[in-house]
Amino acid sequence: MPDRPVVTRIAPSPTGAMHIGTARTALFNWLYARHTGGKFLLRIEDTDRERSTEAAVQVIFDGMKWLGLDVDAEPVFQAGRADRHVLAAQDLLAKGRAYRCYMSVEETAAEREVARAEGRAIRSPWRDADANFNDRPYVIRFKGPQDGETVVHDRVKGDVSFKNKDLDDLILLRTDGSPTYNLAVVVDDHEMGITHVIRGDDHLNNAARQTLIYQALDWEVPIWAHLPMIHGPDGSKLSKRHGAQAVSEFDDMGYLPEAMRNYLARLGWGHGNDEIFSDEQAISWFELENVVSAPARLDWDKLNHLNNHYLRLAAIDRLVDLVTQVHRSRDFHLADGDAAILARTIPLVRDGAKTTLELADATVFALKRRPLELPEKILGLLTDETRGRMSRLRDHLAQQDAWTVPDLEAALRSFAEAEGVGLGRIGPALRGMLSGGAPAPDLAGALVSLGKEESLARLDDALSPAA
Ligand code: GLU
Repeated sequence: MPDRPVVTRIAPSPTGAMHIGTARTALFNWLYARHTGGKFLLRIEDTDRERSTEAAVQVIFDGMKWLGLDVDAEPVFQAGRADRHVLAAQDLLAKGRAYRCYMSVEETAAEREVARAEGRAIRSPWRDADANFNDRPYVIRFKGPQDGETVVHDRVKGDVSFKNKDLDDLILLRTDGSPTYNLAVVVDDHEMGITHVIRGDDHLNNAARQTLIYQALDWEVPIWAHLPMIHGPDGSKLSKRHGAQAVSEFDDMGYLPEAMRNYLARLGWGHGNDEIFSDEQAISWFELENVVSAPARLDWDKLNHLNNHYLRLAAIDRLVDLVTQVHRSRDFHLADGDAAILARTIPLVRDGAKTTLELADATVFALKRRPLELPEKILGLLTDETRGRMSRLRDHLAQQDAWTVPDLEAALRSFAEAEGVGLGRIGPALRGMLSGGAPAPDLAGALVSLGKEESLARLDDALSPAA
């Protein structure tokens, strides 16, 4: 183990979306750095110039910010470091650990065929030729060992051995001199002082190749920890049909970042049977040894349960802002005073909400503008007898000074008693007149959400002779 403070990193390639697998990898690197008092860095692997637009890079910054994963230094851009990668390739050439390969595309394809038939990896005929033509295109290939094994000592997978004959002489620099992924990643991780490479296990094979490059450069091999893939709820590879895959989609669907952190932490890692935990707890508990190696499965029920938990803990002001954003995104324009209505309503409805979208739905009744349009079903309830009773109820409520849930519950009960009927004879009509048929909390809750003035006005509207 490197005898230095821990330095971890997330090294996403900008593709236009931040996949939740990347988010989970970022989270584990962040947790481990925070757990050990080390550093967490960000490297943008922007070598694919076509995909790496400014917008695609911004998606990653936004995703990290939304997830609340703070980094400890300015991000490193891989494309800007090509000269460092080239220097390392030249060093390997000088050490006899790389060579110029002049195979044409056709020759390479033919060698691939033969290699496959012989059950070995690609070897170029130029491997030991030591040829230096300056008038022919060439790539620089790594001169990998032909015999023996390379062992990846992985904190999650254990020791994983690769036969060197199966590891091809991979290209380090392309014909145009541009570096390839395996070279760039080794040089960057080394120069950024990365001690622990924690990433998806789709890179386990690369870890063997990268180990060989580190060794050839006489650099210390970092500690590897390859994380299990995230699968869909049915155990198959995560795909579009499983619903959201990008961090921004979870945001759009109304999940809170703290719920995402808690949820993603459980995808492949755990602390006993703890399902709900704070960032502080996750940081204090996080050990790579507790990462499991079997694929993790996306579980919407768990995520919804966690999100509901965090919605119930969240500060009301914050939820007012989030719900306001949801209404705005639906082109519903909020008026002055609506924030106060939301602040009264949200505490009464959030227990039943799984997302901020559901929370917004549950506040619609309170934001409706008078006069409400009452659906037939509610108008049908307003028989002459019910109208008479509702108008007495209106006057009873008008005399209420204390407008809180317990006071109003008591007032409704005493009214029903005085009328000699059960609350069931009062509830549906009252609720309908207050909500216009939209989902609403219990009667007393609906009255509190609306406030006294608006509640009485809605009843007046519904009971006026014209209605
Ligand atoms: N850029 C690589 C990816 O997005 C990650 C490389 C690494 O973590 O070593 O898959």
